[in-house]
Amino acid sequence: MEKKMTILYEVGEGLYVNLTNKCPCACTFCIREEGDGAYGSDSLWLQHDPSYEEIVAAFKKVDLGKYKEIVFCGYGEPLTRVDTLVQVCDYIRSISDLPIRVNTNGLGDLIHGKGIEPLLQGKVDVVSISLNAPNAEDYVKVTRPKFGLPSFDAMIHFASECKKYVPKVVFTVVDCIPQEQIEASRKIAEEVGVSFRIREFI
Ligand code: SF4
Repeated sequence: MEKKMTILYEVGEGLYVNLTNKCPCACTFCIREEGDGAYGSDSLWLQHDPSYEEIVAAFKKVDLGKYKEIVFCGYGEPLTRVDTLVQVCDYIRSISDLPIRVNTNGLGDLIHGKGIEPLLQGKVDVVSISLNAPNAEDYVKVTRPKFGLPSFDAMIHFASECKKYVPKVVFTVVDCIPQEQIEASRKIAEEVGVSFRIREFI
């Protein structure tokens, strides 16, 4: 595996931020298993978690006018570094009005041992959470989280709490799961009161 310091990379019209390689899951479909980079980027395996200063330096090298949104995603779970993420959001807000999205597995509360949702208030426009499956058993089979079965309820709770602090919350599933699971997942999104999106399996 090649390690580089690719902090920012492009996906379509979005500028994506690669904050960390740390993640409490080992999803069966994780893009990290498919290669060192994604969507034509350099390797997203980092030599170290970039500091706030390194991230700002990376932003200073790009023309934000080229993009329609900024997305915290990368080869790891961005909310493992929620404090840095919030700091970087403040920086982005100081230089741009671009919408900010966080793609997350929704396990931030378990990672930090506390409710982190209020930290996102006024910082993030969209939180996109990988629902992945409509029940705890299937969820654990697919995402293999280190927290085990309680992860599913914690992720649902996270989504529900995020609604209080973030304008838009979305549950996503990949299109390779069975149709009945997609429909059951859609129902959960309706029950929780968040949007629902089926994303393409790459
Ligand atoms: S949560 Fe994301 S980064 Fe972590 S294993 Fe799953 S797909 Fe990969």
